[in-house]
Amino acid sequence: MTHSEKNIHIITLGCSKNLADSEKLHYQLTKAGYFVTHNQNIDKCDTVIINTCGFINDAKEESINTIIEAISLKTAGNINKIIVFGCLSERYMQELKAEIPEVNNWLGNYNPESLLRILGKSTLEKPEYGRHTDNPGHYAYLKIAEGCNRTCAFCAIPLIKGKFISQTKESIIEEANWLSQKGVKELILIAQDLSYYGRDIYKKAMLPKLVEELSKIEKIEWIRLHYLYPAMFPNNLIDVMAENKKICKYADIPFQHISDNMLKAMKRQHNKTSSMKLIEEFRNKIPNIALRTTLLTGFPGETDRDYEELLNFVRQVEFDRLGVFTYSHEENTYAGERLKDNIPQKIKEERAAYIMEIQEEISLKKNKEKIGKSIKVIVDNFNGEHYYGRTEFDSVEVDNDVIFTSETPMQPGNFINVKINEAGSFELFGKA
Ligand code: SF4
Repeated sequence: MTHSEKNIHIITLGCSKNLADSEKLHYQLTKAGYFVTHNQNIDKCDTVIINTCGFINDAKEESINTIIEAISLKTAGNINKIIVFGCLSERYMQELKAEIPEVNNWLGNYNPESLLRILGKSTLEKPEYGRHTDNPGHYAYLKIAEGCNRTCAFCAIPLIKGKFISQTKESIIEEANWLSQKGVKELILIAQDLSYYGRDIYKKAMLPKLVEELSKIEKIEWIRLHYLYPAMFPNNLIDVMAENKKICKYADIPFQHISDNMLKAMKRQHNKTSSMKLIEEFRNKIPNIALRTTLLTGFPGETDRDYEELLNFVRQVEFDRLGVFTYSHEENTYAGERLKDNIPQKIKEERAAYIMEIQEEISLKKNKEKIGKSIKVIVDNFNGEHYYGRTEFDSVEVDNDVIFTSETPMQPGNFINVKINEAGSFELFGKA
């Protein structure tokens, strides 16, 4: 690549919400005439734009290390300009400006106008939500809101992103239509808290209505819902999911814990009884639902007994998918300011690792039950020998892959039935 003024490299860290922002930025910059690369190994270009994450310690470290790497390229004369935006810079703007002067511009949360202004452009290209996806384009994350109105004691998101702001239904549908025209078949709805959608602007939960309307878009075949907060759950969402074929039988509900002591200390708005009731309702109404959750170990005051309760929960519920984080003591959060980070890191990690050991067995058992069955799969890619795809029960990156062979050539975004003949803990193998 030449070291031309027109070359911009975007580096995206953090979650799918950041990825959606970067894809929009990529589109805007390409339309403005730049040659843009995203998340590749680039050692020479004019400008590097880093979209950072600042949620927990590990994420902050990764963002800082990426900035430092870019600075060494700048010092070596391989890049001219570094622009940093996203959660880390929103959260620590003043400190970062003072401590890392080599960065040319610090911007906070995603704001395409400000970014373009720095590059000498004044207006956004239409459509403003236009997107350049790096995947072959058959799925896209669709951000339906920004911010969060909950008050979880451990969480820095409301400090960074502010209050919950829903996008209007019309604007989401317009964006989804545009994406479908570009070849997107699977929409992955994201926000900090999908359950809350609509309560700010429509004064009532509107997620069920929104997904019903999105499902009317002809070329969209799958709609997947991520991050359904378990309290103030939209009443008829489960019925809508049960009846509507386009909505993946997949629910990602971050329970975080199950001990009432912990849920209360974490200032979550659900308890053990309401959590179990929600799981039961899902499984009664949608027997094949894939339930995903996220848990947190080592929150201040987590006793052996609380942890035992959590282990029993994992064993009893047998989630289809599960992730665990260790508690990170974050400044300016309720827990960070008022509670003592009294569980040693080693114990936090051991607790998390043991949960994952249990989950691995559960996952293997569940995957083995699929052997001999034929399952509908969306094709993600081909490595020259095998196709990689996912079932409606698996989201991008975080869940199972279906690795299969097919005599008929397939393209990303094609749907095909795959007969499963082998299973690992986190993969299925088969033949189309
Ligand atoms: S629901 Fe809780 S954990 Fe999730 S973003 Fe909001 S405050 Fe943070």
